Amino acid sequence: MTDKTKRTPSTPHRASQGNRDFRKRTRRDTPPADALASQVRSAPITGSASAPAAILLREGREKSLLRRHPWVFSGAVERIDGAPVSGQTLPVLDSGGKFIAWAAYNASSQITARIWSWNQDEAIDADFFRRRISAAVAGRAGLERASSGMRLVHAESDGLPGLIVDQYGDVLVMQIGSVGAEHWRETFADILQSLCSPACIYERSDSDSRTLEGLELRCGVLRGTLPETVEVIEHGLHFGVDVAEGQKTGFYLDQRDNRALTETMSSGRDVLNCFCYTGGFSLYALRGGAKSVLSMDASSDALRIARDNLTRNGLNESRAEWQEADVFQALRKLRDQGRSFDMIILDPPKFAPTAAFAEKAARGYKDINLLGFKLLRPGGLLFTYSCSGGINEELFQKIIAGAALDAGVDAQIIHHLHASPDHPVLLSFPEGAYLKGLALRVAG
Ligand code: SAH
Repeated sequence: MTDKTKRTPSTPHRASQGNRDFRKRTRRDTPPADALASQVRSAPITGSASAPAAILLREGREKSLLRRHPWVFSGAVERIDGAPVSGQTLPVLDSGGKFIAWAAYNASSQITARIWSWNQDEAIDADFFRRRISAAVAGRAGLERASSGMRLVHAESDGLPGLIVDQYGDVLVMQIGSVGAEHWRETFADILQSLCSPACIYERSDSDSRTLEGLELRCGVLRGTLPETVEVIEHGLHFGVDVAEGQKTGFYLDQRDNRALTETMSSGRDVLNCFCYTGGFSLYALRGGAKSVLSMDASSDALRIARDNLTRNGLNESRAEWQEADVFQALRKLRDQGRSFDMIILDPPKFAPTAAFAEKAARGYKDINLLGFKLLRPGGLLFTYSCSGGINEELFQKIIAGAALDAGVDAQIIHHLHASPDHPVLLSFPEGAYLKGLALRVAG
């Protein structure tokens, strides 16, 4: 499966932008007159209030933008001209006044601006967003339809910072994580409604990133009516999705292909699935012929849906055991009881949202993986994941290597694992590769 997203927006021709003083021909979107009014703040570093609104970078701080990284950090900003409000589209200019990009401004975030377009001639309006969203949706149409669940829009990596849209059959769940995207919320809903004709668009704007952006949390129906039950059919398995109360947008679509891999390797094995949520990996392992599957999660709501999912799929309940537990403690208990397994899955929540949390997160990953290695029988398989944006692939592998060393086992990597292709990663935005995993076989 590949993502064939075709971007409509044209490529900027830097040469033709030359050294024109951009401010002589400023264009901007219509000023916000909506919910953002409550967030109006003056810019942190104010320049000339009478000058056209623009973000001026410090000398030499345009480098990451020239490599097409879509964020402007506050430390790179020399000054803000005009009196813009958060959510407004502004031109980003280098220290010489040369246009670099159109971006959504946020006065109260460490990320002062998120880029919408590198093309000076492109207006950031409803038509622009229709083109971007259509391109994202069209890209998914080229993917193998192994599921009625699909991430249709993956934020920065689809050229739409702050916007996530997940599809569960005829229900769309929209998550807005930035002030810039918040400004266009109604426009997004209108576009999605006309493009996908869903029965419902539900908003789950309750991610941590909203707090960092200075936004209130907000959930509820945006368009249509939410059906009483929402289900996703993935590789023929049926999963109930709690769109309103479940985690993220209700389901972890990113693990789809990794769950399918688990199925192919689980036959005849005693499996331990840690952080099982609604039983994703567990159901695949059971269908793949696992001898037994012990699944653990701290959430009783998730476990209730997991049990329902087992029945929904007519899978043999006698091979499945569900435990409501804190995995950190439960793994120690299993070790003390002398239990062992042929396959262990570790898919914990995000320990490090940003690199600042990496050290503490590394201790958490090392702890559970060390215990995991100790609980594996010779020749056993460990599927270990991190969805922390603050831990890159290289560091994750180092942490796992350290855990194996301390556990006294030799292990081989048999697969490097990532999110499914409906979660593409923009090449110039490595932060988009938040999910990384390793399939390991310990020596026999
Ligand atoms: N593998 C799952 C997704 C896991 S998400 C899937 O494929 O669907 C992470 C899960 O970890 C959540 O369900 C959350 O409830 C659980 N969790 C978080 N902290 C935990 C802890 N300390 N012990 C057990 N479960 C925990």
